[in-house]
Amino acid sequence: MIKSSNRESYNKVFTMLKDHNKLFENSIPLIASENIPSPAVREAIISDFGNRYAEGWPGERVYAGCVYIDKVEFECMRLAKKIFKAEFADVRPISGVVANLVVYSAFTNPGDIMLVPSIPAGGHISHGKKEHSGTAGLVHGLEIEFYPFDAEEMTIDVDKTKKKIQDLKKAKHLPKMAMFGGSLFLFPHPVKELSSFLKSYGMHINYDAAHVAGLIAGGMFQDPLREGTDTVTMSTHKTLFGPQGGLVLSFEKYAEAIKKATFPGLTSNHHIHHMAAKAITFAEVLEFGKDYARQVIKNAKALAEYLNGFGFKVLGERRGFTKSHQIVFSVLDYSDGGKIEVELEKANIIVNRQLIPGDIRAGRNYFHPGGIRLGTSEITRLGMRQADMKDIASFIKQIVIDKKDPKKILSKIKSFRKDFQKVHYCFDKKLSAYEYVKLR
Ligand SMILES: *Cc1c(COP(=O)(O)O)cnc(C)c1O
Repeated sequence: MIKSSNRESYNKVFTMLKDHNKLFENSIPLIASENIPSPAVREAIISDFGNRYAEGWPGERVYAGCVYIDKVEFECMRLAKKIFKAEFADVRPISGVVANLVVYSAFTNPGDIMLVPSIPAGGHISHGKKEHSGTAGLVHGLEIEFYPFDAEEMTIDVDKTKKKIQDLKKAKHLPKMAMFGGSLFLFPHPVKELSSFLKSYGMHINYDAAHVAGLIAGGMFQDPLREGTDTVTMSTHKTLFGPQGGLVLSFEKYAEAIKKATFPGLTSNHHIHHMAAKAITFAEVLEFGKDYARQVIKNAKALAEYLNGFGFKVLGERRGFTKSHQIVFSVLDYSDGGKIEVELEKANIIVNRQLIPGDIRAGRNYFHPGGIRLGTSEITRLGMRQADMKDIASFIKQIVIDKKDPKKILSKIKSFRKDFQKVHYCFDKKLSAYEYVKLR
């Protein structure tokens, strides 16, 4: 190997950063957990807030120099509470996983049991068992039980869940916490239907809104705090179009327990530049969030219908395919999810493979699962609407079903993308969505 000089290594990183932006400028970004923030959010992220410490609660910090940071953080909390109609918001958790850990730490002890959706049923690895290196088991020592799942309806089975809880009680194995929400999330979970039942068994209920926070914020999905959950955790960068980060919402009575778990429990610095960027995002959400969320869901539904029309087996057909930003379809008639993900990437269509109900039983694994998951958040931010979904479905069909050479589709995709270079649903649009900013 030729040794490169320090200057060459330094330059090489910048070349990769620029090439990455170029790639996304010419791609169809369909990862359901990703989004593109506004130029305003990007500006906050490069501010000096990112070089500071502000441990503790605003007004009660352990270091000096926090006068402006405190003002921004109070505003950030005020806006978060306003969006989600919450009594209490902790804006400090630095990610969705950390937000979940805050809630586990505040309301359970190691050895307690938590009821969660399994991964093929949509659960997230941060809800998982120790033997799978899931955060709940590995980091906080929780034992895990799974909700019974209805694969036709693509949601938690209410009657079977009630039966399971009664059985677990008889076996003296009653969960202390119930988790709703997940990563494969087409339809609202039955929180209203189950919350008082679960609470009558003494359970704390958390709703993990990592994926759907932006839809909830826009009033276009379920409203977990009104449906009986005690706490809501989320990421701030999936359908919510903010910086990478986390957030915990709750009621005043749980505020102290959550605050202590966040600091000193699970954060020291809380990525203050991202906190400022959250505040900016929340202002944008209050202004544009409803229109955005409505269009995201319209696009998801249109994309699902076009894919179904082209012959794909789209999950959730009985319920109209989706009520969220996600679409999941089986590719087992053509190949497997792992191989299809690679083929689509050759044409700059960025998707992820997805375990779907039935995969584990059939011996399929995470590397070669049966499904592909798509999300419409980022393409909606880029200004795409229902008619554009037909083009996207057709590109996917040409590669997966017609087995056309992805390299030949790539030039069509590049020209399709030319019309969608700005971020929509934000106040200021001077910078293009993936424009590279040079400060050196
Ligand atoms: C993405 C996701 C998380 C993790 O969020 P990060 O912000 O990446 O830590 C947690 N829960 C669910 C359901 C998710 O989909």
